[in-house]
Amino acid sequence: MQLIDSFGRTVNYVRLSVTDRCDLRCVYCMAEEMTFLPRNEVLSIEEFTSLGRAFVDLGVTKLRITGGEPLVRRGTIELLQNLGQLSALKELCLTTNGTHLPQYANAIRDAGVKRINISLDSLNPERFRQLTRFGDLDQVFAGIKAAQQAGLKIKLNCVALKHYNADEVPQLVQFALDEGLDISFIEEMPLGKISEHGRAAEYVSSDELRSQLSRDYRLLAQENSHADAGPSRYWQVDGCNTRIGFISPHSHNFCGSCNRVRVTATGRLLLCLGNEHSVDLREQLRSEHYSETALRERIINAMQHKPERHYFDLHNEPQIVRFMNMTGG
Ligand code: SAM
Ligand code: SF4
Repeated sequence: MQLIDSFGRTVNYVRLSVTDRCDLRCVYCMAEEMTFLPRNEVLSIEEFTSLGRAFVDLGVTKLRITGGEPLVRRGTIELLQNLGQLSALKELCLTTNGTHLPQYANAIRDAGVKRINISLDSLNPERFRQLTRFGDLDQVFAGIKAAQQAGLKIKLNCVALKHYNADEVPQLVQFALDEGLDISFIEEMPLGKISEHGRAAEYVSSDELRSQLSRDYRLLAQENSHADAGPSRYWQVDGCNTRIGFISPHSHNFCGSCNRVRVTATGRLLLCLGNEHSVDLREQLRSEHYSETALRERIINAMQHKPERHYFDLHNEPQIVRFMNMTGG
């Protein structure tokens, strides 16, 4: 069984956003004042488990748990444990801001997770606080350490912004090298309306960052060896294990090889990061006529609504009003 969209792309990777809440307020991700979802609108752990099972039955081999911050939701570990039991699932991953990893890293590993993404936009405590509005960088460092001690493979994620942290990119790469981690740099996407900065003014292209890094490191282009490489293009630092990834929604459109869909905390199946095309799965999950077959059918039919590509416009009002914490990055 496979999920195939109307452009012939196979969807084998699903991200589940288990909450829109977070203990940080990154300036590119959320507005300062946010209204969060009432709890009864958010899918239960059982409902997320049913969804995970349905997707795996339909040929999905990789699930990523994200948010919001997944580790602020009680029940995320239980969900990981449930999904970790699905024998046809090849990869169970997590994206986190790292602040709760000292508490949960071992449980995450024991649930069957091998690789996690940790967001890290600066190594400077003051800047980190500014970027996250009140975050404590030491908590993230402690989280990275806990994940390393638990034996989890880590990729750092950094949203590069021209006037906030672009000058720190070489230091962030050096940190990744010293710690033996991978790192990806992401071009900011115009999701939701924020007031701190204009998205266009902060734009810095992946190519700009890569040529800056090429002055200090010999970077070897990698074939998209990973089946799941998706939008990331990777370079290996010569002589090291560290890979540097670039996710470039503006400068290098990656839609042709898109293999993923997302489910929001309310059970909306989002077919594209940069479009509003979606299908309500919660209605099906909560229907008195619920059946696994009907749920699977809804998912299969939804693939026909997956758009060909995204169109992001940095210079005008964002066309996508949902923030990344709702989207499930
Ligand atoms: N809270 C977790 C974290 O920060 O890793 C998981 C959710 S967060 C929404 C997932 C990823 O999306 C993070 O790496 C974050 O930096 C990225 N992100 C958030 N808003 C973004 C935006 N507007 N453009 C690009 N990436 C964004
Ligand atoms: Fe929270 Fe992650 Fe969004 Fe930052 S990027 S506000 S940590 S959900």
